[in-house]
Amino acid sequence: MFPKLIIDLKKLQKNLDAVAEITKSRGGCSLMIVTKGLCADPGFAELVANHPKVDYMADSRVQNLASYAGMAREKGKKTLLLRIPMQDEVSEVIKFADVSFNSELCTIKLLNEEAEKAGKTHEIVLMIDLGDLREGIFFENEDQIMDTVSEILKLKNIRLHGIAVNLTCYGAIIPKNDNLSKLVEIARKIEEKFDIKLEMVSGGNSSSIYLIDKGEMPEGINNLRLGESALLGNDTAYETDLPGTVGDTVVLQAQIVELKEKPSLPIGEVGVDAFGQKPFYEDRGIMKRAIIAVGKQDTDLDSMTPVDPQVEIMGGSSDHTILDVTHCDKEYKVGDIVSFELGYGGMLKTATSPYVKKEYIK
Ligand SMILES: *Cc1c(COP(=O)(O)O)cnc(C)c1O
Repeated sequence: MFPKLIIDLKKLQKNLDAVAEITKSRGGCSLMIVTKGLCADPGFAELVANHPKVDYMADSRVQNLASYAGMAREKGKKTLLLRIPMQDEVSEVIKFADVSFNSELCTIKLLNEEAEKAGKTHEIVLMIDLGDLREGIFFENEDQIMDTVSEILKLKNIRLHGIAVNLTCYGAIIPKNDNLSKLVEIARKIEEKFDIKLEMVSGGNSSSIYLIDKGEMPEGINNLRLGESALLGNDTAYETDLPGTVGDTVVLQAQIVELKEKPSLPIGEVGVDAFGQKPFYEDRGIMKRAIIAVGKQDTDLDSMTPVDPQVEIMGGSSDHTILDVTHCDKEYKVGDIVSFELGYGGMLKTATSPYVKKEYIK
């Protein structure tokens, strides 16, 4: 059945080995692998759980953690919830996450109550915002950071595991020695003021890994959280390929359902498309147009690269994608399969769509 997402587990293993080598062996950091980009795919989760260098398995969705928490714990990995918990889901968080990222004391107190009911100690990592302006207590509000830590330390069933920053997500701010050094500074201040040791000072996601090879990772950053770099081999700070990784770990395949010669310009008054956008068309004369049975409900058209370089994606709607195959050497016909390499957005959506079948290369 198509559309199909082909997941190459051998290539993913190679990428895991490569990022583990950089992060752990060279960088001296603990290694957290983030599974959300492949929607916690069971084949990938198994690779991660079995990887000797992985310390944490993380996801932004508690349902994804639930799918592999048992296996992860059995293999000695801690499970970690990346997205700040909803107050609505604290009981699931306590059940399936050993650690969670937090920034709101009121929610941390609810986690404490729930952990007490379950007879557990839940670990939390306090998020610090260094300027990317997504989650975390703003780094300049040091009193707020210290007050929050002081309150957390009073909670009997919560343990402060560390602090963390997230960058290059909302504000697209690139991690550097100077901003990450501020995180280390805050960690040392917390340790001194409260006479505690923070086990984790987490210096970001796949946009931070490049600092290790440049020798610019500040001393004291001791964890990285890697999703895209492990899945697709991308250094997301400067969009380069990490050494030893491959990018074509996942391939989307879709079937041609119509192939006809038509003009390149629609006929009639132009309104808005199915998504409320005013389209732009270029007159290329009569074209050979293929329609494949995959669309915006399954993937992100801007995040797909045809494996056949002579195929061009024209656009699409919820269930259809239109390809220009006019200049292809291959004679496409109805029923043929067209393959695409995926970027992060395409991988995320195809892995999440219930309409896309998954298949492994082992
Ligand atoms: C998604 C996420 C990550 C992983 O990001 P990548 O860029 O895929 O490595 C790390 N930390 C947090 C908080 C996240 O939400």
